[in-house]
Amino acid sequence: MFDFTIEATSGPARAGRLALPHGTVETPAFLPVGTQGTVRALSPRDLQAVGAELVLANTYHLHVRPGEAVVAKLGGLHRFMAWDRPLLTDAGGFQVFSLDGFREVREDGVEFQSHVDGGRRTLTPERAVEIQWTLGADIAMAFDHVAPGGADVATARDALDRTLRWLERCARRHRELSDSRTAGRPDGKAFTVRPSDSPTVRQTLWPILQGGAHLDLRAEGLRRILELGSWTGLAIGGLSVGEPKRVMYDMLEALEPRLPGDLPRYLMGVGFPADLVAAVERGVDLFDCVAPTRHGRNGSAFTPDGPVNIRNAEHREDPRPLDATCDCETCTTFSRGYLRHLFVAEELLGLRLLSLHNVRFLIRLAAEMRAAIRARDFPRWADAWRRRYTQTGSA
Ligand SMILES: [Zn+2]
Repeated sequence: MFDFTIEATSGPARAGRLALPHGTVETPAFLPVGTQGTVRALSPRDLQAVGAELVLANTYHLHVRPGEAVVAKLGGLHRFMAWDRPLLTDAGGFQVFSLDGFREVREDGVEFQSHVDGGRRTLTPERAVEIQWTLGADIAMAFDHVAPGGADVATARDALDRTLRWLERCARRHRELSDSRTAGRPDGKAFTVRPSDSPTVRQTLWPILQGGAHLDLRAEGLRRILELGSWTGLAIGGLSVGEPKRVMYDMLEALEPRLPGDLPRYLMGVGFPADLVAAVERGVDLFDCVAPTRHGRNGSAFTPDGPVNIRNAEHREDPRPLDATCDCETCTTFSRGYLRHLFVAEELLGLRLLSLHNVRFLIRLAAEMRAAIRARDFPRWADAWRRRYTQTGSA
């Protein structure tokens, strides 16, 4: 379980297969984001139809509302959201560090203000792991200190060191929970949901590499992460947080030869089409982002010719599909003229149809990249894709 097999490479780009308790994920793969235990406007059947193999859910949001104990009582996160395929939960750090409102970082953890009821709560590395264990996703993430984009060396160093100290605590707690489960005895610590209540078959914990835009910090962080244990995957956090794209691409390029070849590499929070292609070129395997659904709800659609704003008047009498190359329900059923009408009339169906298409677009993009890697033709494919995508679209 948690085996990652690389089946083909083309330059640094890799096509592989990640085996998880709830199924297999072909990589490169895009993970739709189910913030509140739902990918906004899409049902699990929609997600299956667009070919999603791994879905991300946000620990912070589910902890604040409805609370992990409620999710556990209703059978765990897979059952709760009726998704029986692989799930990944983030640790909540990104939300705690990016939401507005009160926040205080201490060595023990972070005290913050709930965006739902304004109440003060504390998230520690141990609690973040326990919450994720109770939710029961296939992959849990370590709780990290996220430095703001553009952080200077001292700030990034402080966040990196704390992230590594927290990683040790996360790994220890996760090991305790795994051991107590296999031993079949309830956990005696201040943790109200017994491991046996958790539907988790098996869960793995992935570390997150921080270090801001400073390569020496990233390289040191990577070395120390690999010294801390044997992992089944590795996440790269703290990129795509406001720095110029070039900085992210250069960082990925510089990190690539240093990354262990046999672990899946997950670039967190990146999901614009051109970024996916650029990151796969630099050896990344997994991505998540709210962009496809957020943009879809705003009437912006990804197409092979660049983004299209469906609200534009030019689509009023357009009988063509949104994306003639796409096989999704939206593109095989409706005209651009009808989709524009839905947005102008503020009909809910429009939000669902564009979200559905955008997620399908990124999942198809990942599949096309896999095919090009398997054909050992990725550099040429990527150049051709970029030429077409960056020609001026209609928005
Ligand atoms: Zn489509």
